[in-house]
Amino acid sequence: MYFGITFFKKFIYFCYEIEVSALFFAKTIFIIQYHTNMKILFNKKFLNHNHESYAEGNYRLKDFVDQCDETEINGEKYIPLVHTERYIRSVKEACNNHSVLAEVNLSPDSYEAACIAVGLTVLASEQNDFAVVRPPGHHAKREKADGFCLFNNLAIATQKLIIEGKKVFILDIDGHHGDGTQSIFYDTDKVLYCSIHQQYTYPWTGTTDETGVKEGVGYTMNFPLSAGDGDKEFLNAVDTAIEKAKEFKPDVVGVSVGLDAYENDRLLSLNYSLNAYYECGYRLGKLFKNVFAVLEGGYHFDIKKCVDNFIDGINKS
Ligand SMILES: [Zn+2]
Repeated sequence: MYFGITFFKKFIYFCYEIEVSALFFAKTIFIIQYHTNMKILFNKKFLNHNHESYAEGNYRLKDFVDQCDETEINGEKYIPLVHTERYIRSVKEACNNHSVLAEVNLSPDSYEAACIAVGLTVLASEQNDFAVVRPPGHHAKREKADGFCLFNNLAIATQKLIIEGKKVFILDIDGHHGDGTQSIFYDTDKVLYCSIHQQYTYPWTGTTDETGVKEGVGYTMNFPLSAGDGDKEFLNAVDTAIEKAKEFKPDVVGVSVGLDAYENDRLLSLNYSLNAYYECGYRLGKLFKNVFAVLEGGYHFDIKKCVDNFIDGINKS
């Protein structure tokens, strides 16, 4: 009888161990998939902002409406991480008054879209996703809206990561220099900011001699390309930036994915193919575990194709 009870207990314990192991295994698989499969974060309210514009208008995101789930997070509480209260108030007032700011016709819908854009970018930074948002952010300075940008979505998410003790490598592949993002992190060694863009165009900054100040010296790198440059020049710059980032050893990589260096873009004269975005994603995903992305510019009708290629590159690496 005694033997029987002991045997029974052992059998129960054995079953319990198998169950715990199975649960651990399943959880591990889930976590691995969760962290390696980048997905799109999107909200239809982005289409209500500055909708008629031929430049930064809502035609840019129409392809996402039927094909993406909606995620809604109001990120208003994160905006003061980068922008001053006075500036935030002035943007809100400009939206309520239907004013024009940074070449954009504002409305109350613009402020709502901007807050959700920040919220989705912060969420993307927490779970390695791609926030497909409007308005874009990388030209926005701490106290200035510029180049269609109101709040600097990526900089806000990055500042939150810095407060959490992390180091961030920002790769900005928009065809314009990300002067806003560069200015926000110009004096810190917690962020390595690299921008690849067309030279001698708006915002007329982003030369190779802009390398940072104070503790930030050496933590800003600009790669100005010439009109007509394509995949080869772009991917060479990506590789050089990645080499620098390997020395920097970031905890997180944030990518400003502007798509106006694409060959069909109407504003710029660079010639990246769809494959360039795949290759860029692949190279980043292969080397870095935590990569998130946010949409910046891109003034053509293939935004979704470009985004899908970048995500494919990340997920297949
Ligand atoms: Zn741009």
